[in-house]
Amino acid sequence: MIFMPSFAADVKNELAHRLDRKKCCQTAELAALLRMGASMTLGPNMMLGLNFVTENAAVARKTLTLLKSISDVQTEVTVSRSRRLKKNNRYMLRVVPSPQVRPFMEKMGMLGETGGSVGRDTALLKKSCCRHAYLRGAFMGGGSVNRPEAECHLELMTGNYGFADTIYTVLKRMAFPAGFTDRKNHYIIYIKDGEAIMDFLSIIGAHKALEEFEGGRNLKEVRNQVNRLVNCETANLQKTVDAAAYQNECIKLIENSGRMDGLSTALQKTAQCRRQHPDATLAELAEMLLVSKSCVNHRLRKLVTLAENFKKTEDKGEKLE
Ligand SMILES: [Zn+2]
Repeated sequence: MIFMPSFAADVKNELAHRLDRKKCCQTAELAALLRMGASMTLGPNMMLGLNFVTENAAVARKTLTLLKSISDVQTEVTVSRSRRLKKNNRYMLRVVPSPQVRPFMEKMGMLGETGGSVGRDTALLKKSCCRHAYLRGAFMGGGSVNRPEAECHLELMTGNYGFADTIYTVLKRMAFPAGFTDRKNHYIIYIKDGEAIMDFLSIIGAHKALEEFEGGRNLKEVRNQVNRLVNCETANLQKTVDAAAYQNECIKLIENSGRMDGLSTALQKTAQCRRQHPDATLAELAEMLLVSKSCVNHRLRKLVTLAENFKKTEDKGEKLE
């Protein structure tokens, strides 16, 4: 079996190599990433810490880079085999409990008045550059997107209702045709429009993936055109088969009425040939009869008209009796 990395994994890999220059954006992106996969821990003396778990190496790397860039918290990384998917690694990023963690989490908007719950992140989302970075973090942490050849579908999934609602609101304010739904214990924000998915990939900075998506969509368009042509040809073939069957019915009717002998030799020969080759095309019949295609067509139509007229008079006769 050939292993096909998912398109979503490609997008995340690309994004992992992209680092915003501005600290404001780095903060917004990291905040979204942490919302997607981090849980709070308590160390000695009630000091706060964080655990961040992901199965995507690129996501782990990016989170670590951002942590180091905008904070002075101490980090540890451990890698283990995922229990759920045996072949995948599981990356655990640990922010070691220390006095520095509390102010860091406050900056990340992770310690609201309610303590630990996530607010609307209004402070992080004031500028559009930061909103884009926030969406990038959300995609890296819990996003997936179909290959361009498949049905158009991009989604962001999280178990946190407040966070899901914030992402949804941000997208709606940017006029994205986003939908919101829940599946088991998870909230899902999705986009099903191809153009909108391309816009999304563009604003989160996945330019290579965007190009691939665009190319794939064009390919899909060409494939649809080919399918339409094939369908059209199939319909034409069906028409030909139906026409041949009808011609044979008409010929049988003429034979049964005893009128075949009264027809011209040319018509008789054509009728016989059609009866013997019910699946033959007009071109094939023409070749067998050594005449042109239009000539065969003309003769067959004549046979059909004769049969139809004959049927009409017969029906009338029945009515008169
Ligand atoms: Zn910014």
